[in-house]
Amino acid sequence: MGLPHPPPLGASALPAGTFDGVCVFITGAGTGLGKGIAQEFARLGASIVIASRKPEHLDAGRAAMEELGAPVETVACDIREPDTIAAAFDAAEAAFGLPQVLVNNAAANFPVPAEDMSPNAWRTVVDITLNGTFFVAREFGRRHLDADTPGSIINIGASYAWTGGPGFAHSAAAKAGAKNMVETLAVEWGPYGIQVNGLVPGLIPHEDMTADIQENLSRADDEKDALQPAMRVGTRREFGWAATFLASPYAQFITGHTLVVDGANWQRRAMTNPTVVPIREQMGKEPFSLS
Ligand code: NAP
Repeated sequence: MGLPHPPPLGASALPAGTFDGVCVFITGAGTGLGKGIAQEFARLGASIVIASRKPEHLDAGRAAMEELGAPVETVACDIREPDTIAAAFDAAEAAFGLPQVLVNNAAANFPVPAEDMSPNAWRTVVDITLNGTFFVAREFGRRHLDADTPGSIINIGASYAWTGGPGFAHSAAAKAGAKNMVETLAVEWGPYGIQVNGLVPGLIPHEDMTADIQENLSRADDEKDALQPAMRVGTRREFGWAATFLASPYAQFITGHTLVVDGANWQRRAMTNPTVVPIREQMGKEPFSLS
């Protein structure tokens, strides 16, 4: 049986208009889960600012918001570059005023055994997923401290922040840092009215997943539902609902917390251990050699 399926797309637990007049700045919201989060905020009245690098992603995000009738601004931004982040916030402020909500969703990832990982691969993923997340939070925090206005930050994480992520050493380490950042910033900025939380998805397949990640998923049994304790994968709307709750007036005393929306998959243990299969074998790679 597994966990019940959620209400249909378009439903919401929050009152209509919860985010009327509120601007939500979301990185990487032209694709995947970020777009799903943006859609849920948009349904509840928010104005949306989408920041990412690729014009085709920005266009897709804009179209998804316009379909819902939401005011939207898209802005080219590489979160590794503090100057482009500042310019993106300038554009957001010009369009809708200072965003009251920041969803730090953009990240980079691909599977690779640690011994094969180039310094450049490590640096790139850490630079986007950890450094970029901080740089965007910093820009948001500084503007709110200066304006003396409250705000809400949500860092999108991953459960291997706690467990480690074989095959994803770069991303797991970066996500552990981003989760830790939630705890630090919540305490530093709470006195100024800024709430900081983390939000972690479980397996939520979507059409924008990169080829690397799709290939990784296809390594396991084809039936993804049966691989989850919930006996089903998650949906984008369930994840988006969690984000809108965390940034809503009903969750203002929740801060410094990371909420996991994954059907308990990360807590899964078996009574007997399955045989250990080395990562490079799982990925169908030849034995490692320095030559
Ligand atoms: P996705 O579709 O690959 O989206 C990543 C987004 O980040 C893209 O829109 C990309 O846009 C943006 N981005 C990447 N590098 C950037 C940069 N340097 N500057 C600005 N934007 C950048 O990923 P997703 O599956 O939706 O994942 C969203 C979040 O959930 C990520 O934080 C991910 O780690 C986390 N997560 C997802 C899953 C899952 O099952 N899907 C599981 C665990 C955690 P541009 O290419 O246009 O820059």
